[in-house]
Amino acid sequence: METVTPATTVWTRETGAAEKRDVWTAMKRGFRSRCPRCGEGKLFRAFLKVDDHCSVCGLDFTPHRADDLPAYLVILIVGHIVVPTALWIETNYAPAVWLQLSIYLSFTLIASLALLQPVKGAVVGLQWALRMHGFDENSPGEISPG
Ligand SMILES: [Zn+2]
Repeated sequence: METVTPATTVWTRETGAAEKRDVWTAMKRGFRSRCPRCGEGKLFRAFLKVDDHCSVCGLDFTPHRADDLPAYLVILIVGHIVVPTALWIETNYAPAVWLQLSIYLSFTLIASLALLQPVKGAVVGLQWALRMHGFDENSPGEISPG
């Protein structure tokens, strides 16, 4: 005789709830170039190349495409530092133009390069925390162009 065992899963409110993702924690981990989920694995395999997956927890990074947002944010941040500083220094001290240009241009270049990877990591962390996935051509729910 065949016996049927009843299902042992007890359904509660929390059973169907999705994994909780803290936005600030994910962005901080991304800013440190770490996996937004575990905070351990490396996020980048090159300067601005996001790895395919986390080497520690296996999180798939491929749906997270930051596109131009990190560059835009870096321009916004660095511009808001350099432009008011240059205007204030010009108004109050008016040093030689060659001196100002050599300082502002080199600071802009160095600060932009230094911020680009952390900001991109933070954007990927934000995307992961908010479950924002890039266009996936294999996803059945997407509308294909054309
Ligand atoms: Zn991970």
